[in-house]
Amino acid sequence: MGFFSRDIGSMDDLFVHTLRDIYYAEKQIADALPDMIAKATNPELKQALDHHLGETRNHIERVETVFEMHGVKAKQVDCPAIDGILKESREIAGEVDDKQVMDAALIAAAQAVEHYETTRYGSLIAWAKQLGRNDCASVLAQTLAEEKAADETLTRLAESKINLQATS
Ligand code: FE
Ligand code: FE
Ligand code: ZN
Repeated sequence: MGFFSRDIGSMDDLFVHTLRDIYYAEKQIADALPDMIAKATNPELKQALDHHLGETRNHIERVETVFEMHGVKAKQVDCPAIDGILKESREIAGEVDDKQVMDAALIAAAQAVEHYETTRYGSLIAWAKQLGRNDCASVLAQTLAEEKAADETLTRLAESKINLQATS
């Protein structure tokens, strides 16, 4: 999908393109999480990120299921947004020099990822419904619920202890 080709001519094309975007994003996230888990110190944060790594592997499979249900090839398209979010997270982590502050930075980075995913799945679900694919929408909704839960867990960890530890 380049700047000089216009191959999105319908809402169905846009749905498939965005599915390919989130497919790429989920795979990049699965590749990035082990490094974030290794950098985390707080055991609950490590556990939460590790739990979400397992979920992320399921998200990849669910996207593959939706490609199959929709009768299109499982293919990735570059997502410059997730590349940027993950690049920024690696850059910040490379600059932080305190374990507790690192945990706070990792949470903020992970939440940026969850918010990106949440917005993409939200659109995909709305479009699937509009296209008469409630079956695809309900598979995608399972993932959206897990992204939101992951985000809430991170907020709870940050606000209940990690930000406090990082400040003291
Ligand atoms: Fe995900
Ligand atoms: Fe994208
Ligand atoms: Zn996620």
